[in-house]
This record gives sequence, C-alpha cells and structure tokens, in this order.
Amino acid sequence: MIHSHEEQLSCRKILVRSEAGKGDRLIFDDGNQWQLSTTPIRGEDDPPTSLKNANLAYDGLGATRDFYRDVLGRDSLDNAGLTLQAQVNFGTQFDNAFWDGTEMVFGNGDDTIFKDFTGDVDVIGHELSHGVTQFTAGLLYTDQPGALNEATSDIFGACVEQFKDNLNAGTFNWLIGEDVMADGLYGEAIRSMKNPGTAYDDPVLGKDPQAANMAQYVPGGDPHINSGIINRVFYLIATDLGTFPAAKLWYATLQKLWPTADFAAAADVCAQMARILARDDVIERQGAQTVRAAFHDVGII
Ligand SMILES: [Zn+2]
Repeated sequence: MIHSHEEQLSCRKILVRSEAGKGDRLIFDDGNQWQLSTTPIRGEDDPPTSLKNANLAYDGLGATRDFYRDVLGRDSLDNAGLTLQAQVNFGTQFDNAFWDGTEMVFGNGDDTIFKDFTGDVDVIGHELSHGVTQFTAGLLYTDQPGALNEATSDIFGACVEQFKDNLNAGTFNWLIGEDVMADGLYGEAIRSMKNPGTAYDDPVLGKDPQAANMAQYVPGGDPHINSGIINRVFYLIATDLGTFPAAKLWYATLQKLWPTADFAAAADVCAQMARILARDDVIERQGAQTVRAAFHDVGII
C-alpha cells in the first residue's frame, strides 16, 4: 500500500470544526502509525478530504448518529450530543476496528482477510453502538452479558445499514461486515444474524464458529461466539415486527438491563418492554408473544 496522503494534506487548507455537545463528527488520520492522532482532518460540515476512508468514516458516523436520533430519539452515543470521533489508517495492515471507550479506530486490513474497515456501515454502527451500551446497560464484556453487549452492537449496526440504504428486515441480508472482506474472500462475511455459524467456511478463515442456539452455547465463551444466539433472536423479532419497531424494543430493553444481566434476564425484560411498547402503539400488539417465541426458538426460555 502506498500512503501519499500526508503530502496531499500539507498543501490543502483544512477547516476543522466541531462544537461540544452537538453530536458533531471529527475524523483523524493516524498515517499508519500505531498511535492515535490528535489533529483532526475533517470536522462537521467540512468538505470531503482526499482520503476515501476518512470520508467513509465521516459518512458512517453520520448515518449512525442519524439512525439513533431519527429512529430511537437518542442524541449521539451518550444522549447528550457526544462528539463522534474516528481515527482512520491506524497501524499497518491492522485487521480490526474498535471502540476504545472514547472514539472509533479503524485499521486498513491486511488485504488477505480484511480490507479497510470503513468500507461497511454496519461495522461502523457496530463499534459506535458499543459506546451506547457503555452509556446505558453497561454490560460487562464477559460470558452472557458480553454476548448481549456484542449482539447489541450487531443489532444496531444492522439497523444503521438498513436505515442508510433504505432496506428492511425482508430485503437486508443480515450479514455483518461483508463489505470489509478482502477481495479473495468475496462473498464471505464476519457474521450472519439470520443463520449464525454460516458466515464463512474457507481455507483462509476456517469455519464460522458462532453459536445459533443454546445447544451450541459455549459457557464462558468469547462474546463474539455466543452473541449469535441473541443476533438470531433479534432477526426473528425484526422479521415479525419490522426492523425499526424491533430496534425500539431492543433499545428500551437495553436501557433496563444492567452490567451482569444474562440471556434469561434479557428475555424477561424484552417481553416486559414489548407489552409496554405495544400498549403505546410503538410495536404491534402481539409483540410480547413474538419476543417469547424468538427467545424460545433459540432455547433460552
Ligand atoms: Zn463488537
């Protein structure tokens, strides 16, 4: 990879703006160093930069912020207009993207497994939603609370992509990260919410180990494995109630959960929230039955 952007930036006048508490965006370029930059290259309402991934990050942050505002009535990640910050070009061939507790960090991928992580808006929605979970339920990142935390990020990541691309539960592919797979893995994805455990099976990655139900649950396992069970629950609910009503239901559930909440607690709270949202005409009247059927389908209740 050739990174000539620093040169381009030096001869370009950049106006970087952001105001605290307004959910403004700030994008930083790490220039392939293993440390986070403190000099923003694009702020809210600034014109596009010469870096495609910086612009994709800017757009993805905007789609995520707008989904939370328009669909869930939430003002940025903390519901108080937190400035949305993202770092692109972190490290060299870094094969991941993460939320570090304050901002998003994107690697370029190694082009064998992944390519640039700004390429799929569900990945961006996923990482930022870790911030929302942090500011709400505060689910611990271990065993069942960790799987609920991970699933919540996939759930809202999938919702952000449907919001941005005008898709619904029937037309969305329910795949996470299919657009960040390296060209040699075209057609694979990181996770399937519809059929957990089927996202990939190839010589580079091996076979997708995600659990789809409690029979496949790994006690104390990696949250990314067990999150498949909850992802599948959300897929089933969204298919019956519609993605955005299901998103409102999961968001209401998230606000009632607590750091050590387990799957059974989530089932209980979600059904309770379904009754309240049905009464308020936010979701269809059979919402609680839909929720129980979905949690029953995967063997939680
Ligand atoms: Zn995650």
